[in-house]
Amino acid sequence: MTDGHTTGGVRGPVDDGEVAGFWAALGLPGAVDLHVHFMPEQVLRKVWSYFDRVQLHGEPRWPVAYRLGQDDRIGRLDDLGVRRFGALAYAHRPGMAAWLNRWAADLAAAVPAVLHCATFHSEPDADAYVAAALASGAQLFKVHLQVGGFDPRDPQLRPVWARLAAAGVPVIVHAGSGPEPGAFTGPEVFGGVLAAHPELTAIIAHMGMPEYGAFLELALRHPNVHLDTTMVFTDFVERFAPYPRALVSRLAEHADRIVLGSDFPNIPYRYAHQIDALARLGLGVDWLRAVCWDNPSRLLAAVRT
Ligand SMILES: [Zn+2]
Repeated sequence: MTDGHTTGGVRGPVDDGEVAGFWAALGLPGAVDLHVHFMPEQVLRKVWSYFDRVQLHGEPRWPVAYRLGQDDRIGRLDDLGVRRFGALAYAHRPGMAAWLNRWAADLAAAVPAVLHCATFHSEPDADAYVAAALASGAQLFKVHLQVGGFDPRDPQLRPVWARLAAAGVPVIVHAGSGPEPGAFTGPEVFGGVLAAHPELTAIIAHMGMPEYGAFLELALRHPNVHLDTTMVFTDFVERFAPYPRALVSRLAEHADRIVLGSDFPNIPYRYAHQIDALARLGLGVDWLRAVCWDNPSRLLAAVRT
């Protein structure tokens, strides 16, 4: 592991104990990490057992680094100086999103740092429970097209996308074909949603891994589409889906479109490594401030519910 990369005179954190100091060195009060997962215990255990079984390009293990109880995970994010964070859950089948949304609303009500998050699947009551979630103050949505296995262009989801676009509520979409492709992953499918809802505030998870270039182009064609850094640029992902060096300068040009994401707690390395991997890009302190604080804060402030 090569850690502690300096950009603009600030050195990336070499371990989790240095992350809070890194934000301070940037002149930030901390970070806003939209792509963090919290789920009901039984759902999270299933996700962890999936990662325990995963075989990835000869990589036998995906050892989840933060396999802790919920209170300890919240405490760890606080120690890392993450001031606001997502509590993303997603449905792998119909019939569970409304329940996940009620659980997430309760968590956000109990813990001030937790953003009020929600999800949906393709099902007849999706518009009704999305409307209910928005009415109760949902600030951030997540859908996972590979795990969910549904077509986001399904006509019954048109009112849902329209509702989210009108509310200016960001929706994180796992739309890329990595680490595993699905029937509805890839830039063309989600591009169809954006063609119909060009004002949607969408955040492409993992910067669209591995279709980085196509998702960057898609984002730049739509004023409210962003890309999250989740797992990208880390040594782990660079081994099987390296970010093209030729695109890095475009990330500098479009700093306002990139937001911090980590996938905490389901990551096979320390949180500090994701942050140092961003420093390693060498794009300077203004870029890091925009990505880790200004951009996600701006998206949350723009919510009209
Ligand atoms: Zn995730």
